[in-house]
Amino acid sequence: MKHDSVPAMVTPKYHLVTYGCQMNKNDSERIAGLLSGLGFTSTDDEGNADLILLNTCSVRQTAEDRIFGKMKDFIALKAKNPDLIIAVTGCMAGRDKKGEFKERMAPVDLYFPTPEMVKLPRWIAELRPELVNSASLEDDYLKIRPSRVPSAQAFVTIQTGCNKFCTYCVVPYARGLEKNRPAKDILNEVRDLADHGVIEVTLLGQTVNSYRAPDPETFSSRNPYHDHYASLLWEVHEIPGIQKIHWTAPHPNSMTDEVIDALTLQKQVNYLHLPVQAGSNDVLFRMNRKYTREKFLDVIEKVKAKRPGIALGTDIIVGFPGETAEQFEETVSLYRACDFDISYTAQYSPRSGTLGVKLYADDVSREEKRRRWQVLQEVMEETAKRKNQAFVDTVVHVLVDKLENGLASGNTNEMKLCRFAATDPNLVGKIVPVRITQALEWQLNGSMLS
Ligand code: SF4
Repeated sequence: MKHDSVPAMVTPKYHLVTYGCQMNKNDSERIAGLLSGLGFTSTDDEGNADLILLNTCSVRQTAEDRIFGKMKDFIALKAKNPDLIIAVTGCMAGRDKKGEFKERMAPVDLYFPTPEMVKLPRWIAELRPELVNSASLEDDYLKIRPSRVPSAQAFVTIQTGCNKFCTYCVVPYARGLEKNRPAKDILNEVRDLADHGVIEVTLLGQTVNSYRAPDPETFSSRNPYHDHYASLLWEVHEIPGIQKIHWTAPHPNSMTDEVIDALTLQKQVNYLHLPVQAGSNDVLFRMNRKYTREKFLDVIEKVKAKRPGIALGTDIIVGFPGETAEQFEETVSLYRACDFDISYTAQYSPRSGTLGVKLYADDVSREEKRRRWQVLQEVMEETAKRKNQAFVDTVVHVLVDKLENGLASGNTNEMKLCRFAATDPNLVGKIVPVRITQALEWQLNGSMLS
């Protein structure tokens, strides 16, 4: 039997690679928690691993191509170590309903959508029984305790999946319909993080503000809100030790008055990331975003009225099928009207299985997509530089997350990267005041106040 060939004291090793968004990173922390519960330790060297696991992303074709490109390496690794287990999870496995991707992944032993990670211990035990020291099984993967690198910042998933079916997006297929975690579990996790030194939490969900608690009775009778997401924010805000609250990504239609009001909670960062995707009503309709340009601008106006000076970020797709040059200009004018600090701009790429591919031809040329991206990039750089300039000679508060070569760095309350000279390693994980002396497009430089 295989397990006779492995010395009893050898600790099995896993090599876990994560692609894509923060949700995937948080899922990987759960996978790491699950594997360490089985007695595995992590290795950076895939040649030294008993289990290689890829947590994949499907948002762009390039992300998927990267995974297919790994298969050659895996064939070579398996030739050297036939007992090696190779596993693929995440969005590619989630949306591959017909098994077309799997067919191109010959060396892969385990292939499963994210929620099925709960079965990983059993599958590993079936393939390599000698590697598994216990088989404690959860039926809900969100109940698995994530294994995190110690830090003052942590991501907490409050919801998975999505019901919105934007026509360009694979998420509802890859991750399934929206599922919300019980508020009790979320708050217990945040309390536990605070007890372990975390001071900034980022709540994660595909449309985080559409959160509906399966257990609203968890909310305190003192909670001033009725909207479940605003209520959750208030409860997180009450947890001693937590100093900064951040969340991503909300949907404009779920920016209720109460959620907008919760932006004024004292621990809430002074930043809102609100994806708009396009500025033309025609394009928004074909994207199935279910709001108009006017409605989006109305939300932004309310946000700015409630929290003047808030920094704003967004996501934009350029070159969506049928987007004319004039319609793209509406995106540019909306960008200017909102005065966003930052945009994560993508050039449309058709994703198989989405409604966008079935309904519309990808009729904006690559060059034109690139041109539109460049136009927006220039507007963004000009806006960012102007807005950052306003911080010069002011004092910001920076949560230090890195100290290297005499330079400390971290984010301000507006989620802007700030750097300043420092040598004390104890600053990492602390919030410190910094006077800004220089503003660049993507960075503020300053000096720490004593
Ligand atoms: S809201 Fe739209 S873009 Fe966001 S995850 Fe859901 S379907 Fe995708």
